[in-house]
Amino acid sequence: MNWLLKQCRLISPDQEIENAAVLIENGVVRRIFAEGDALPSADRVTDVEGAMTVPGFIDVHCHGKSGFDFCDAAEEAMETIGKDKLKEGVTSFLPTTLTLPEELLARALQTAADYVKKDVKGVKVPGVHLEGPFINPKCLGAQNPDYVREPDIEMVRRLAAIFPVKKVSYAVEMPGGAEFAAELLSEGITPSCVHSAAKFEEFEAAHRHGLQNLTHFCNQMTPLHHRDIGLVGAGLACKDVFIEMICDKLHLCPDMIRLVFSLKDLEKIQLITDAMRAAGMPDGESSLGGLAVIVKDGAARLASNGALAGSTLQVCDALRNVYEITGLPLKELIKTTSWNQAQALGLKNLGKIAPGYAADIVILDDRFKVRSVLVDGELRYQA
Ligand code: FE
Repeated sequence: MNWLLKQCRLISPDQEIENAAVLIENGVVRRIFAEGDALPSADRVTDVEGAMTVPGFIDVHCHGKSGFDFCDAAEEAMETIGKDKLKEGVTSFLPTTLTLPEELLARALQTAADYVKKDVKGVKVPGVHLEGPFINPKCLGAQNPDYVREPDIEMVRRLAAIFPVKKVSYAVEMPGGAEFAAELLSEGITPSCVHSAAKFEEFEAAHRHGLQNLTHFCNQMTPLHHRDIGLVGAGLACKDVFIEMICDKLHLCPDMIRLVFSLKDLEKIQLITDAMRAAGMPDGESSLGGLAVIVKDGAARLASNGALAGSTLQVCDALRNVYEITGLPLKELIKTTSWNQAQALGLKNLGKIAPGYAADIVILDDRFKVRSVLVDGELRYQA
């Protein structure tokens, strides 16, 4: 079975081709045709009428959607999130945990394992992202203080035996935090720093042990200070460091988004949602990790202290925001929604539309609204 998408405005890293055609065979992109090339016959031909055709988004930081949180540790939660992420153009995501007891995290990871086994025709789940519990209790944000603990590789190994752990976000200044980066890497897990009060020097120690990622850059980390550049300074100064960014214009104001995009190598920026259960839902009462949350005008804040409690962002809107704010070419910006994530996590054959890559493709209209989504060459969502 092969499928030809024609009249595509193909946008992939370092590439924008008008009137392109994409030939998909057995779930994989076989060939790209430029305007004027003779097109082959195919079992199925779809004219996308000049719409933006981009690599499926990879959201490496997402707690929930549509009223559910991954840490509900319920089959219905995992399946609903897994299907509804398609609506924002996501074709792979890392369900992301919160600072919670190990026993509950284990149950959540089991729902991810079951989801993959069941093949529910949602988005791909190559692994999970553990955000916490190894964070600095002074930098909780919306994480629950009751379950904070020191870095513990044995705990990570126990969880990874249930379902692959791809990324662990923790505070490098916690006891053993620098060495923890190397321990995670030896397990094939990407270490990332956040919810941290680390001085630049403490970051550098973990960096020497291989840490090259910062989670939700600027949020819950040491700001740039002229006598200690902190973690924000680390993200800007260290060329090899990947940064996650929540570009909802709340977690990062437009001026900060513009500043970071002008200073940082675009190949190191990863747009994320950090979405919680209120994403895709109307304003009102919600919750995160057992803490009460109020959502107003799409901003989710803890009822107790007003701290931002994750976002209600969708990746297609994050891409539109950075496009409108930075004015950078889409063939550059498109690296930040999938390619960079695939590089940071070592995900093979994902992140661009090119021969040999998985046919994970999103068709977007001019306002970046998702029209249709293909996962492994199969139509899984149509607006
Ligand atoms: Fe966080």
